[in-house]
Amino acid sequence: MAEETLKLIEVKNLRKFFPLRAGRFSASAQTVKAVDDVSFYINKGETLGLVGESGSGKTTVGRAILRAFEPTSGSVYFHLQEGEATDVLALNRKELKAFRQHMQMIFQDPYSSLNPRMTVRDIIAEPLVVNNVARGKALNERVADIALRCRLNIEHLRRFPHAFSGGQRQRIGIARALVLHPEFIVCDESVSALDVSVQAEILNLLVDLQDEFDLTLLFIAHDLSVVEYISDRVAVMYLGRIVEMSPTKDLFFNPLHPYTEALMSAIPAPDPDTSMRPIILQGEIPSPIDPPPGCHFHPRCQYAEDICKAEKPEWREYQPGHFAACHLVDKLTLKGAEE
Ligand code: SF4
Repeated sequence: MAEETLKLIEVKNLRKFFPLRAGRFSASAQTVKAVDDVSFYINKGETLGLVGESGSGKTTVGRAILRAFEPTSGSVYFHLQEGEATDVLALNRKELKAFRQHMQMIFQDPYSSLNPRMTVRDIIAEPLVVNNVARGKALNERVADIALRCRLNIEHLRRFPHAFSGGQRQRIGIARALVLHPEFIVCDESVSALDVSVQAEILNLLVDLQDEFDLTLLFIAHDLSVVEYISDRVAVMYLGRIVEMSPTKDLFFNPLHPYTEALMSAIPAPDPDTSMRPIILQGEIPSPIDPPPGCHFHPRCQYAEDICKAEKPEWREYQPGHFAACHLVDKLTLKGAEE
């Protein structure tokens, strides 16, 4: 899928901390470390899957990149051309509004993400109007063109969102995200609320549109089979940090981090007689207000040693393009998903 090696997005040391005020149950103010020192890149035309449990920080990463809320620190570089770099986090309000044409989001819930009082035509046209890109006949032509590419009918444009199924509404959301011809899209659990057959239809549409528009995608999801299908590479998040990142096949069949191994063990296998037993992680994901010292995963890791409780593991490249943060990568032989 990805032929070019231009890094479209480079995220460096991204942090997003949410302050909590002191209240009835805590005497002092605290901080939720939702994203804590996250770095990665996405090549132009590539799909990077971002997976992890609820509360791991993956949605916060997507929203912080688009500045849906302000990151605490870090950099997000866009390389629209070779040798050019725009730090999205350094843009002022006016510059950011103009730059948003290059980056858009497809939301999780196709029901609540569309304004019920607007026609489909007005929903899709809104980004063009707000950014003063087209008006009149040109606007209508552009809306009709993207609607057809997203497999909507022209007569759908006169209707309101309540008249559509979940899959059709998500296609309206995709058309709205693509109408400005952005280079980069964050898909935030974009198929999670849909039935399985509709999920497949939307995933295939996304793959086709990615080729057509040369799109770069950050695909945030918790369903690993969906991520495996659509992603060129995958990053695994745990408690605000990326713990492993690699080409999709390597991550699924040759994981280097015990948390990834546990995720892979939970994928249902086609043959139940030969499938590995799921690794049951003990306890809940710890609170990001007070994350465990050393390796955040140590209270739930079956391989943990003393060093894991004391020292943060280094982020290292163990095989070409395959990174992990674990003290014991060289000692452990982990099992991947069933082929
Ligand atoms: Fe487990 Fe230690 Fe590796 Fe963390 S560093 S994943 S606790 S083995």
